[in-house]
Order: sequence, then C-alpha cells, then structure tokens
Amino acid sequence: MKKLITLLFAISLMGCSSDDGNNHVDNGNNAGNGNANLRATGASAEELLRSAEYDQLEIEVIYINGARPETETLVNLRTFLQERLNKPDGITIIERNITDSTGENYTIEEIDDLEQANRTSFTRDNTIAVSIIVADKPNERDEGNSVVLGTAYRNTSLVIYQSTIERFSGGLNQPSRVNLETTVYNHEFTHLMGLVNLGTPLQSQHEDADNENHCDVQGCLMFFEINGGNVLNMMNMSSIPQLDAQCLADLRANGGR
Ligand SMILES: [Zn+2]
Ligand SMILES: [Zn+2]
Repeated sequence: MKKLITLLFAISLMGCSSDDGNNHVDNGNNAGNGNANLRATGASAEELLRSAEYDQLEIEVIYINGARPETETLVNLRTFLQERLNKPDGITIIERNITDSTGENYTIEEIDDLEQANRTSFTRDNTIAVSIIVADKPNERDEGNSVVLGTAYRNTSLVIYQSTIERFSGGLNQPSRVNLETTVYNHEFTHLMGLVNLGTPLQSQHEDADNENHCDVQGCLMFFEINGGNVLNMMNMSSIPQLDAQCLADLRANGGR
C-alpha cells in the first residue's frame, strides 16, 4: 500500500487527499497470485480495464455489523463499471456480513486487518477480484465536518464509511443517499482504474497540480474541490458526477472502454 486515496468531505465541500505515509506489504511475489491483492493503488489498472488477463470481475462487498448502501447504489456501480471496463464475461457482486466490535472508529490499518481476516474473493484464473469493506463506524481522521467518505488503499481494496455517508446525505439541503453513495463508490473505484496519473498514463495534462491523483476539471467525478462556490453545486448533487472527456481518454488509451 504505497498510497492512500481518500475521499474527504469537508465543510460543505467534497474532495480527496492522498497520503503516502502508509507503507504496507508489497513484496512483489505474485507466484500463484498469492499476493495479487497486496499491490499499490492503481497497480491493477490495466488488469481491470482490459480483458487480456481477466475477462470477469468479482466484487466482494463486506458489510460490517449490517452497514450497507442502498441497493440502487450497487446497481449504479455495476452499470458504471460495465461502461468502462472490458469484462465480457461479466461483473458479479457478492455481499457478505461480518461482525466487529472494536473501538469507536477505524484506522486504515484496522480496515486492512479486517479485509485480510475476512476477504474470501481473490483474483484467480480469468477473474479479477475487488474487495469493498463497508464500515459502520467513521475513520479516525474525521474532524468536525472534515470527514473521510472512502479510501482506495490497495490495488483491489476499497473502504467506504457508510455511517459518515449517512450523516451527510438524505437530509434537508443534502444530496440524496443514493447520489452521494454512488459518487463515492464510483470515485474510489476509478482510482483502482489508475486515475488520475495513478497507473493509467495521462493523455493530456489534467492532473490537479495541488491535489495529486485528481482531475482539474470542475464537475468531473475525479475532481478535488478545495474552494467554496462550485462545490455547493456538487454537493447538491441533483445528478451523479461523471468522468470528463480527459479522464475518459486516459481510460480508453489504457485499454478501457
Ligand atoms: Zn479521490
Ligand atoms: Zn476528469
């Protein structure tokens, strides 16, 4: 885990920060796919986008203590992935529940430990597998209205902070639950596809100079917004942000659709 890509929600604005401070196992021993799921975020971009090595995708969604998104959110994620990834044999979503009673919040290391202890779907044969942990408690880095909604912490590993998404959606002057969830799931999964400049090469210069691995096009799904005004539009989110032309061009050039 070379890089943490995190979706933050800060005082009526939304964005992401990456964090190089965490280094996990990355020993490069891929014999028998034994460590195929222990590489850095973005390292599986080509494997996800192309069909050459893997022509199906299996997503294991692991709910902690019953925390789960709206059904429509997973439908939206699957549709989004079908439009971007070359997986002719299909995209399957498996849902499981686990229990965990530790602490009031999670560090990314604790999330990682839970994944290692509970993940059952691994990349094999013609199938690439992705794990999504859905946490019932917030990330320990949350402060006030600056909160972490999700993190892409390895090549096939995501965590989504469900209780935090629920705090910031579905109410008055908040985005709908499904719209915020779908935005977070799609955004984090797109980091696994190597955006922006995270394993999928840039076809044009659109990486945000101030927020690495994000797009500088306002309104793009991969945009990191740091200044007020425009974000409010994003946060009202009457529609789900889409990838802009430059992000799409990067994905297509790296074998995506
Ligand atoms: Zn991000
Ligand atoms: Zn973009």
